Amino acid sequence: MTDYQVDLTNCDREPIHIPGKVQAHGFLVAVDNQFVISYVSENIHAFLPAQAADLLGQKVTTLENLLLQGEETGFISQLLLLGRHTKSFETINPYKVVINGADYNLILSQTGPYFLLEFEPDSTATEVDIHKTIGRSVSEMLAGKQLKQLLDNAAQQVKQLIGYDRIMIYKFLDDGHGEVIAEVKEDHLDPFFGLHYPATDIPKQARDLYKKNLTRIITDVNAESSPILGLAAHGEVKPLDLTCSALRAVSPIHIQYLKNMGVASSFSISLMYRDELWGLIACHNYSPRFINYKAREASKLIGQIISSALEYKQDEANSQKNDQFKAAYNVLSDTLRKGGDIAEAITQHETNILSITDATGAVLVYEDKITTLGQTPDKDDLEALINWLKKNMEDRIYYTHQLPEVYQPAKGFSGMASGILACTLSKEMGELIAWFKPEQLSTVNWAGNPNKPVEVDEHGVVTLSPRRSFDVWQETVRNSSERWTREEIANVLKLRDEVVFAINRQANEIRVLNEKLKQAYEELDTFSFTISHDLRTPLSTIKNYSELLLEANQSLDDDARRILGKVIAGADKLNFLIKEVLNYSRVGRIDLDYTEIDMKALVQEIKNDLVVALNINNLQFEIGETPALYGDQTMVTQVFANLLNNAIKYSAKSNPPKVRVDGKETSSEVIYSISDNGIGIDLNYYNRIFDLFKRMDNVRGYEGTGVGLAIVKRIIEKHNARIWVESELGAGTVFYVAFKRNV
Ligand code: ADP
Repeated sequence: MTDYQVDLTNCDREPIHIPGKVQAHGFLVAVDNQFVISYVSENIHAFLPAQAADLLGQKVTTLENLLLQGEETGFISQLLLLGRHTKSFETINPYKVVINGADYNLILSQTGPYFLLEFEPDSTATEVDIHKTIGRSVSEMLAGKQLKQLLDNAAQQVKQLIGYDRIMIYKFLDDGHGEVIAEVKEDHLDPFFGLHYPATDIPKQARDLYKKNLTRIITDVNAESSPILGLAAHGEVKPLDLTCSALRAVSPIHIQYLKNMGVASSFSISLMYRDELWGLIACHNYSPRFINYKAREASKLIGQIISSALEYKQDEANSQKNDQFKAAYNVLSDTLRKGGDIAEAITQHETNILSITDATGAVLVYEDKITTLGQTPDKDDLEALINWLKKNMEDRIYYTHQLPEVYQPAKGFSGMASGILACTLSKEMGELIAWFKPEQLSTVNWAGNPNKPVEVDEHGVVTLSPRRSFDVWQETVRNSSERWTREEIANVLKLRDEVVFAINRQANEIRVLNEKLKQAYEELDTFSFTISHDLRTPLSTIKNYSELLLEANQSLDDDARRILGKVIAGADKLNFLIKEVLNYSRVGRIDLDYTEIDMKALVQEIKNDLVVALNINNLQFEIGETPALYGDQTMVTQVFANLLNNAIKYSAKSNPPKVRVDGKETSSEVIYSISDNGIGIDLNYYNRIFDLFKRMDNVRGYEGTGVGLAIVKRIIEKHNARIWVESELGAGTVFYVAFKRNV
């Protein structure tokens, strides 16, 4: 692995677009905006009677004079002006010139502030009528219905056009390594078809360059390249960018690589698919070979035709399956749009998340629930994997066909999930969907051992060198699944958007419902407040007149007096109930006024009042720790008054009644317990005791309205505090209240 990295980093860093050299079969001159010669390749003297160094700093007319030897000058400046004006040299290139009686092509291009003038022979290895060939090539190439056939035809056409010994179509796979998927060659050569080449064979910056300049030729790997001399500005010569150059010399490492393969001349054409480098048409010749500009352009055209054919042939290839996925996606999207439970919509029907990809298993993590479909890792493995995903997924989507490579524990379940494609639904909530593909053992034939790009010499010095042997090197690939296709990924992304949309819509619906509920609650509060309030006046009237009747009317008999007494008691009870309901609705209406509450004083005071009110003599009342509480003084008093009232009331018949209040502090809360040894609460109804007017069966014979705990609960909620209860029938009850320490 380390070896591998040596190769990667070094090769990836080599600035191949500024090699400072050109191939020697032609020469280069670069002029600046003022048409002053700023760079010249040293080998110019082999073509023209001039030395490179002498030309630097001269006007371009000097070069013109050398080329034309006395005839009219100015043609290069004209061409440059024209190109500059139309912002392209495409229609000008190539411009024919004659040097020493031989035809040359002048190829013009622009790089930054400079214009490149490259002169190369017009003579070519193959003399073909390019127009005719291209016309025929196009129709023959496109006759192939399948992608494979199209590529085979293209390789054939390129071979005819440029006559190299071997033409390969090389496709880049997801991880950057390449495979030869079509080949046409001279019969005596060994086939390279089906061989794989590691990604490092073509480093990143070479790929970037191939995207910008679609063809490149290396005429003779054994020819010395010629250095480019430059005009120094501020004492420094800046390297000239040769990205667009036709003569660019290539990296010595690449030259060595070709030599190791026995290749003398190489030509390659980029194949693009949706602006990315899809592959190359790689041409090898085993003796030096030059092809002229026109033949290269014709090959480029073939490359471009394949590139555009790829756009639809590639899509066509998987179209049937993709149509199925798409139809499944549409069904899911419809189900989601109908509303209802999201998890159910995408997992519980015949068409579910599994139907939109070729995966064999899937998992949905949503609302704290894990739902699995098809074949997935065991519960524990799955949970660990989900946690890993939650931690490591930075984008909304993550996929690999080699999960065990990035996540070691996956080796344990590679049979189930060597491939994973996951998308987040909500990063904050850790919600996601993931799809799995099983391991697929496969054999890859590498062109030479791909893991040995460095060599150690006899002194132990590690040097970077391309591999010497290209003998087939077989590797059994484990822990790999089938790759995720572009369509599968696109479907997952679309489904993700749809699910996120449904979640948002539901959240909005809940918000609206909440708002309505709040409104209804407020209305109810106002209603109960008003009605209770309005009841009080007629109630006092009833009471007052009954009392008046009782006192003023001595002639009333005993029965009448008893009845009036009952009316008065009833009125009192009703009055008490109204007060309680008013209290309850008040909690909802009043804003909290937080203060630090002295709990010892508060508890003591309540106890004194209650003992008198409830008239209990033998009560054993204990106060333990009383840490201060932070809350609304009136409301907290109400909480403790209600809880203590109940504790004393419901233990009154115990012998003796025992009530204890105790507080303690945790790091985040102050928790109070109020315990009694009274009648207790039936375990099955713990939660109902907090409902308004709810009383248990065992409290018959005890005064009460069933409002107290409802008020307590409301106050607790308003404080963002907690309340819970532990109890045993006939043994006693403990209520706990926990208030936040820092609000
Ligand atoms: P009430 O006015 O009936 O006491 P609360 O709302 O205060 O109404 O309490 C509701 C019910 O909860 C009571 O009727 C009783 O059944 C039960 N309860 C509350 N506190 C206790 C307690 N300390 N011991 C036993 N039961 C209790």
